[in-house]
Amino acid sequence: MSATILRRKGMRTAAGLGLAAFLAIGTSLSGVATSAASTVAGGSPPPTITEQPFGAVAGQPVALYTLSNARGMRVRIMTYGATIQSITVPDRNGQPADVALGFSSLDGYVNKGGPAGVYFGATIGRYANRIAKGAFTLDGMTYHLPINNGPNSLHGGTTGFDKRVWQATEVRQGGAVGLALSRVSADGEDGYPGTLSVQVIYTLTNDNAIRIHYLATTDKPTVINMTNHTYFNLAGEGSGTVYNQVLRLNANTYTPINATLIPTGAIVPVAGTPLDFTQPTAIGAHIRDNVQQILFAQGYDFNWVLNRPSPADASLVLAAHAYDPQSGRTLDAYTTEPGVQLYTSNFLTGTLVGTGGKIYRQGDGFTLETQHYPDSPNHPNFPSTTLRPGQQFDSTTVYKFSTT
Ligand code: BGC
Repeated sequence: MSATILRRKGMRTAAGLGLAAFLAIGTSLSGVATSAASTVAGGSPPPTITEQPFGAVAGQPVALYTLSNARGMRVRIMTYGATIQSITVPDRNGQPADVALGFSSLDGYVNKGGPAGVYFGATIGRYANRIAKGAFTLDGMTYHLPINNGPNSLHGGTTGFDKRVWQATEVRQGGAVGLALSRVSADGEDGYPGTLSVQVIYTLTNDNAIRIHYLATTDKPTVINMTNHTYFNLAGEGSGTVYNQVLRLNANTYTPINATLIPTGAIVPVAGTPLDFTQPTAIGAHIRDNVQQILFAQGYDFNWVLNRPSPADASLVLAAHAYDPQSGRTLDAYTTEPGVQLYTSNFLTGTLVGTGGKIYRQGDGFTLETQHYPDSPNHPNFPSTTLRPGQQFDSTTVYKFSTT
């Protein structure tokens, strides 16, 4: 195969911690991490994977897979939307909680998201976040996408990757377990050009890391921007707001937005604004500041530009470190992507009942959506999201949990 790798996972990382090294070592030719091998050698049994039925959508059966490891972590992933349904991790006293917002049944995901969509835990594609007025031009051709968010197209349109049933294959290799989810997005699906063959491979390690590896190829020039839309609450889903949880983002700049949440095209410093998370800061500390950007978003809903040694660098770097003082749970997010969207569930209005039976309201979770910048096809100064035949889209994000 002569496919060009657009984005490579790298050994070098600002994060240090050795994590990037073991993930890179653990990347086999088939793209599946084998990183658990070291912990297996250290004595822990390898993670396990089981499957159960989870209902059906339009006659298509949906399966729910449970990945569990020796450290008490359990991740549930379903084939509808290649969605993370729950993430159970222990606190500093060993008490487990589900730290991902979700629904207890498939019906919630299919019917309860509301017109705006909530995308709990979903794989987002073909294009994560917004494309202004649902239009972009590529190689002189203008394409039109479904308008599903004010005047714009959001998260792939009305029937994005989050609303499709994916094919699942369990992966056991070198002591790791994973779930490979794949689908073919037809040429013209939701207005996007090119037949896109796409795969999302989830791996759970014995180090309490979830690795998400995205791969895609196309038969015509297209655009692609994929992410995972898990809403985290490190104190447990349904436990109230995340405003006391502390966040650090590895980003000195961000892409400001207009009133419809489309980037203006500028890249500006966070210093002196409520978006400055360069030092650990409670998520709620400035979430109601009387500042135009915060008012546009009704909280945090911005793309931060990750600090990298050069714009072309696509090594696995630390994007975010989050910490819950109450439970001691921490979350480190690493990515090969250039940006991260922190969204503080500003549009949850108390109409949804979550996995554990509690109502979800504004501020009850935060996302760390690793991504290329929103509306990149309409901003030539942003890193390109174009994928051409012969190239391979290759993107990795790791969410690693710990306690302190
Ligand atoms: C977007 C928000 C949107 C949310 C749920 C986030 O990725 O940035 O504006 O409301 O997804 O749809």
